[in-house]
Amino acid sequence: MRIFFAGAARSVTGSQHLLEFDGTRLLLDCGLYQGRRQEANERNRHLPFDPRQVDAMILSHAHIDHSGNIPTLVKQGFRGSITCTPATRDLCSVMLRDAAHIQEADADFLNRKHADQLQEPVVPLYDEADVLKALKQFRSLDYHQPAPVLPGVTCTFLDAGHVLGSAIVQLDIDRAPDRLRLVFSGDLGRRNMAILRDPEAPEAPDVLVLESTYGDRLHSPLAGMEADLAAVINRTVARKGKILVPSFSLERTQEFVYALHRLTLRKAIPPLPIYVDSPLSVRITEIFKLHPECFDEETLAFMRKNGDPFGFDNLTYVSNVEDSKALNDREGPMMILAASGMCEAGRILHHLRNSIEDARNTILIIGFQAKNTLGRKIVERQPVVRIFGVERSLEAEVVVMDAFSAHADRDDLLEFVTGCRSKLRRVFLVHGEEEQMLPLGERLTRMGIPDVHAPMLGEFVRL
Ligand SMILES: [Zn+2]
Repeated sequence: MRIFFAGAARSVTGSQHLLEFDGTRLLLDCGLYQGRRQEANERNRHLPFDPRQVDAMILSHAHIDHSGNIPTLVKQGFRGSITCTPATRDLCSVMLRDAAHIQEADADFLNRKHADQLQEPVVPLYDEADVLKALKQFRSLDYHQPAPVLPGVTCTFLDAGHVLGSAIVQLDIDRAPDRLRLVFSGDLGRRNMAILRDPEAPEAPDVLVLESTYGDRLHSPLAGMEADLAAVINRTVARKGKILVPSFSLERTQEFVYALHRLTLRKAIPPLPIYVDSPLSVRITEIFKLHPECFDEETLAFMRKNGDPFGFDNLTYVSNVEDSKALNDREGPMMILAASGMCEAGRILHHLRNSIEDARNTILIIGFQAKNTLGRKIVERQPVVRIFGVERSLEAEVVVMDAFSAHADRDDLLEFVTGCRSKLRRVFLVHGEEEQMLPLGERLTRMGIPDVHAPMLGEFVRL
C-alpha cells in the first residue's frame, strides 16, 4: 500500500490524504484549499486524483479546511460513503451549505464586476444542490465503535478534543500483504478545554500521520484565562465601552460563551448585555445542544446544575440583519461577538467601523490572525486601518488572548506521540507551516522515533 499527500503538505489548508491499496482507494479528509483566489480556485476545482476512482472517504472533523471540498468530490463522480461522527455530520450539514452560499455569492460578485467585459461567466465551485447530494453519502459512526469502511480496513474514531465531533482516525488494515495500524490525528485539541473531552491516546499504531499546526509554539496556560477575561471586561465596562470579539463560529464561540456564563454565575463580571451576532454561530450552537455525548464530565455536571451552558439571561443570539443593525445605535457597556474570526468579512466589519475610533471600546482577539488580514493589522496595532475602503484610526484598546486556541501546542503534540510510541516506526508530519513542522520533526527524531518525514505536496510514499 501507499499514501499520497494531496493537500495540507507543508501548509495548514486543504487537508487530503489518499491511501491506496491494490486497486482500492480510501480518502482521509477532503478540505478546501484557502489562499490567494487564483491558486485556490485552480486547486479546489482540479482535485489531484480521480474522484471516480476513490472507493470510500473518512472525515476527521467539520472544519472547512478538512471538509469543504467534499461537494466537489461528489460532483466529480465520487460515489462511496463518507464516514464521520454524528456531530461532524450535523455540523457539515450547516457549514457546507454556508460554504456553498459563499461560493455562489463570490461568483455573483465577480460576474457583476466583469459584466461589461466579454469573459466567460464564473461558475461557483459548488452550490447548495451539490451539498445536499453529498450529505446523502455521509454515514455516522460513534466514537469507539470499530466499523469496516472497505474490505480489510476497520475504522475506529477516538476523541480528538479539537472541535465538536472531531475524531482521531484509527485504521486497522488487514489486506495481504499489509497488516498494520495507521492513525491519522486529524486536528488535535488542547487538554482541559472547557466543553470537550481531552484527546485520547491511540493504542500502539505502526504509522502516524500527525498534524503540526503549532509544532514549535506553546500556548498561554488555560489557568489564568478566566481572570484575564474578567479584567478586560470589567475595565471596559467601567469606561462604558463596547467589547468587540471577532470570533470563529465553530467551537471558539461556544467555548467563549460558556466562559462568560461561568464568570457571570460567579459574579466576576457584571450582567452586561452580550450579543452573539452571527447566524452561522446561532445554527452551530443549536447543534452543540444536540450532542451532549461529546461533552466532558465537568460540562455535563454544569448542565445538571445550571442548565444550558450556551444560554443565560443577559445573552442574546442575533440572526436577522435588522436586529444586527439595531446594535449600532445602542450605547455601551455591551459585548458583541461576530464573524468573521479574522475580520475579513461578515458583521464584525460593521461593528468595527462603528467602534474602532472610540478609545472607550475594546477589540478582544481570541483567534489566530493570518498575515495580511484586517485582524492581523489590529493585532499589530497599526494606527490606521481600512474598513470598507475608508481609513479609520485605531483608538480602541486591543487585547490578544490565545488561551482559546483549539489546537494542541508543541508539548501537547510531543506528549501525544509519547503516549502511543510503543510500536511506532513512522511519523508523517502534515497540516503545518514548515517553521512549525520541521522543528517538531527534529524533536521527534531526537526522541528516537525511527522515521520522521514531512512529505511534499503530491508526494507518494510506500508503506
Ligand atoms: Zn480543525
